[in-house]
Amino acid sequence: MKKLGTAIVLSGPSGVGKSTLVGLVRRAMPELEFSVSCTTRPPRTGEVDHVHYHFLSDEAFTRHLDAGDFLEHAGIFARRYGTLKSEVLHRVSRGIDVLLDIDVQGAMQIKKVCEADPAFRAITEFVFIGPPSVDVLEKRLRGRATDSEEQIRLRLAGARRELSFWKEYGYLVINDDLDRAAGDLTALFRSFKLKSSRQDQELFS
Ligand code: 5GP
Repeated sequence: MKKLGTAIVLSGPSGVGKSTLVGLVRRAMPELEFSVSCTTRPPRTGEVDHVHYHFLSDEAFTRHLDAGDFLEHAGIFARRYGTLKSEVLHRVSRGIDVLLDIDVQGAMQIKKVCEADPAFRAITEFVFIGPPSVDVLEKRLRGRATDSEEQIRLRLAGARRELSFWKEYGYLVINDDLDRAAGDLTALFRSFKLKSSRQDQELFS
């Protein structure tokens, strides 16, 4: 058996600082690859098609869905998001670690896949990023001057819902200090490589 990679499922509520943390981990672990998700939302300034997301029409998203191409998919803020199997499975089988930055709905679908498929369970890890407290998260969300009160309330309700899922994940990293949290995440991701189930099974035989 070859050495396998890890599919790392990473979630955390809006405003927790996930993108910043992922950026720092990316710098520390250039070998880590990212699953590029499909979405029906329009690109934001600076976002590049097929780099940040595969930006799809609703029809194209439905075609992938009908073809069974998604490992998971979810509706978030009235837009659709999904992870293509092709973004994850080939890489992990070649020993590459892949990060899936997805919401809790998607993560819970992947948990179901794991329950049905022990081989997939063996190569998947679930990591949740949490705020130091709900108050801190609210302050961070309010700090984004671009959001209206209505948007903030929606995001807060969504964030509280997401937070209630943290125990479903194998690991919890609290983002109270950016550098420490990025260090913890990097150490955690590196530790996944050391699992005996991911090592070359022919070793020492
Ligand atoms: P944004 O639109 O701000 O880039 O992302 C909004 C939310 O969608 C984030 O919580 C992000 O983790 C989540 N997300 C991004 N891609 C996927 C995906 O493929 N599947 C699921 N379930 N969530 C995703």
